[in-house]
Amino acid sequence: MMEMRCPTKRWLLAVLGVLLATCTISAQPAGVKLDTLHVRHVDYQGVTHEGTIVCNRAISADLREIFAELYRQRYPIELVRPISEYGDDDERSMQANNTSCYCYRQIAGSKKLSKHAQGLAIDINPLYNPCVKRRSDGRLWVQPSTGQPYVDRKKSFRYKITRNDLCYRLFKARGFKWGGDWRTTKDYQHFEK
Ligand SMILES: [Zn+2]
Repeated sequence: MMEMRCPTKRWLLAVLGVLLATCTISAQPAGVKLDTLHVRHVDYQGVTHEGTIVCNRAISADLREIFAELYRQRYPIELVRPISEYGDDDERSMQANNTSCYCYRQIAGSKKLSKHAQGLAIDINPLYNPCVKRRSDGRLWVQPSTGQPYVDRKKSFRYKITRNDLCYRLFKARGFKWGGDWRTTKDYQHFEK
């Protein structure tokens, strides 16, 4: 091809390739082995979907078993797509009510890496199970921002995770912690190990 005869362009392409490879490697913590799982799930209307979960190898057996049981008992989960399909934008993924696990990011409002960065945490039906923090001025900070109608957990609505529902019990039985049990921040969508 014509452009490959030009040494400057070839050199630039080589440098670009190295830069891209470096970016990809640095976006993943050392020693983290990720698996891609293909799971079936049903949405609230009872329609079966094929989902994809990227997670840490250490919890892939747990997630496989949990999702098989959720599917068997027809526990509704709307969407299960890797966060990369939302441009690695957690807010966009949550607003779409997308269940996802691995995401290289810091804990919101902190410099600490989230358990999602190691693929050891999963957010289930996040729009209806928002993360709720009380800010220093007393106001609530809700993620996703469109999850405001679902902050009041006494209300009844679809996809709501409650203590002792099937999803909660399956994760707890395998040693996961639920963000809805936390005292200050309530992260109703979040299970981590
Ligand atoms: Zn989470």
